[in-house]
Amino acid sequence: MRHSSYLEINLNLLSENFAKIQSLAPKAKLLPMIKADAYGNGLIPISRYLVEEHKVEKLGCASLGEALRVFEECPHLPTEMLVFSDTELQNPKYREAYLNLNITPVIHQRSDLDIVLNNPEFYKVPLVIKTNTGMNRLGLNLNELVEYAPKLKNRGIKHLLTHFALSYFPLKEGDKTHRQMDEFLKIRRTLSDLGVSIEETSVSNSGAIEQRFGVSETYVRPGLMLYGPPAVTDPHTWNGHQISRFVTKILKTFTAKKGTPIGYGINVLPKDAFLAIIPIGYADGLVTFASGLELNINGHRGQLFARINMDMAFIMFDPSVEGKIKAEDVVEIWNHDNKVITDIANQMKTIPYQVMVAISSRIPRIYKVK
Ligand SMILES: *Cc1c(COP(=O)(O)O)cnc(C)c1O
Repeated sequence: MRHSSYLEINLNLLSENFAKIQSLAPKAKLLPMIKADAYGNGLIPISRYLVEEHKVEKLGCASLGEALRVFEECPHLPTEMLVFSDTELQNPKYREAYLNLNITPVIHQRSDLDIVLNNPEFYKVPLVIKTNTGMNRLGLNLNELVEYAPKLKNRGIKHLLTHFALSYFPLKEGDKTHRQMDEFLKIRRTLSDLGVSIEETSVSNSGAIEQRFGVSETYVRPGLMLYGPPAVTDPHTWNGHQISRFVTKILKTFTAKKGTPIGYGINVLPKDAFLAIIPIGYADGLVTFASGLELNINGHRGQLFARINMDMAFIMFDPSVEGKIKAEDVVEIWNHDNKVITDIANQMKTIPYQVMVAISSRIPRIYKVK
């Protein structure tokens, strides 16, 4: 665990993002996705804050273990945890959890549907079904659901949903997202015609919500945008705040001449430089392919140089920066401007999701409420 390197998470900014999402989807309720440690922001503090401050009725996670952790830490949190992918329903040892706690599996394949339809003790568990409308990852398709309709009719569907594969692209009439929506509406209509009741629906992830698509369903399911970065970056229209600020400090500085080898391997300076070492490396989540990343460090343009080490990294500056940045100075890798994290992810040829979830447990999360 580090002390002077940390992620500072501003919960007021989370509230502002929440309100902005609500204004994009005024008719829908929010079902925040808190998988992967709430996108690196901390599963427990984020879940608790969303439920206590914003009264969210449902939270979405990826694995049963995430849902269990929430209730282990906050046994009486008044919310329902939905497990979207790794439900462990096939495992008798783990599926008990759904009977004893307010945790609901999202049914996304036939074998799981068989378990919840054929075991009477599962009748009290709400039936939440994910449909496959073209992403072709998880979900039951139209034909499968028609086949199950007689059984579904007796039981009723609590929540029917689908997930978009391409909503981070600017939407156009007739594109993949519209086709997925058409397929979803067809599934819903067909089930209704077969007498299957459907109480609630949801379809939209961040990319869709940013474009106000699918926002008249019962729920919207924001993940990324709630924590700051936009899903749609061209054009960049989501003006939410990056709720985290990644802070570190300068461990040591020195100057070196062109041609000096720096650190592990053979990385020689391409020109005279002023160098700063920061005490974060790949074990903190500054992945090795961050090497080369250009950063604005206290107003000076710097670049991660040479190999990223397990515990440290080098930032190379112009020699003129000497004296302007010193050991023990506090510096930010990213701040609350969501353009900064987007730029970092773009430079690393990855997505902000990965940059955020990579930050390891060696970096403490510090919560701030203004
Ligand atoms: C992760 C996830 C979301 C949220 O996606 P973002 O792009 O982060 O908004 C919504 N729905 C499902 C089913 C998901 O798995």
